[in-house]
Amino acid sequence: MNRLTRLSVRNFCRKPFKLNLENAIVSFTFDDFPDSAFRNGATLLESFGATGTFYIAASLLGKNGPSGVHISRDELQNLRERNHHVGCHTYSHINVDSIAESELESEVQKNKDALEEILSEDEYPHFSYPFGKLSFSSKKKLSKFYDSMRGTHPAINKGEIDLAFLDSVALYENRFSKIEIDKWIERVVADKGWLIFYTHDVQVKPSNWGISINSFNYTLERVAASDALILNVKDAYDFITRKKEN
Ligand SMILES: [Zn+2]
Repeated sequence: MNRLTRLSVRNFCRKPFKLNLENAIVSFTFDDFPDSAFRNGATLLESFGATGTFYIAASLLGKNGPSGVHISRDELQNLRERNHHVGCHTYSHINVDSIAESELESEVQKNKDALEEILSEDEYPHFSYPFGKLSFSSKKKLSKFYDSMRGTHPAINKGEIDLAFLDSVALYENRFSKIEIDKWIERVVADKGWLIFYTHDVQVKPSNWGISINSFNYTLERVAASDALILNVKDAYDFITRKKEN
């Protein structure tokens, strides 16, 4: 996809929502996801009284990947019992811009069925685009299935946000800088916006798509020291749309 197409996809098939917050929100999300995200990421979040969002491609469960071994069925159950939020990728982790609409529907359904079987819940209304890729038709189609979809365009969600393409910032060790992290947090607090971080593994020596335990902990400490709320994506969505008051 060239730059012009990417810009157009951002501007069409939007699910606009006017964000009106008194305090900024920060969400921590994990894609795919390796078991170190469960062991270290979830546990560190809990030590700050928070939970995260874990977007799963169910075909990867228990399998080896570039960021480590993916979470097992038992670990996934445990993660959910600890009140973390489970969201969806595509079932086979395929790019949604590369497949026909019928295949896209099947990917959505297969992932939902697999999660339903493991977790005995039937609603999975939040999604992240594998590889951050999307097209006009996939964005439009996925909007029918999901309340929110997260991309990988690095920005703060503020003002009129697009729930069909939420911006998010990579938390990757090989790009990590304390100064940059401090700036993102200062910016989201000043903007009263919604900052979504994403990563994969969380371990002492992370992959190219993961973050170290130290850097993850640093980021959590900085957010906790600000007046931003740490909410998983489902709780943030419910909070901003005031579903809990209805
Ligand atoms: Zn992924």
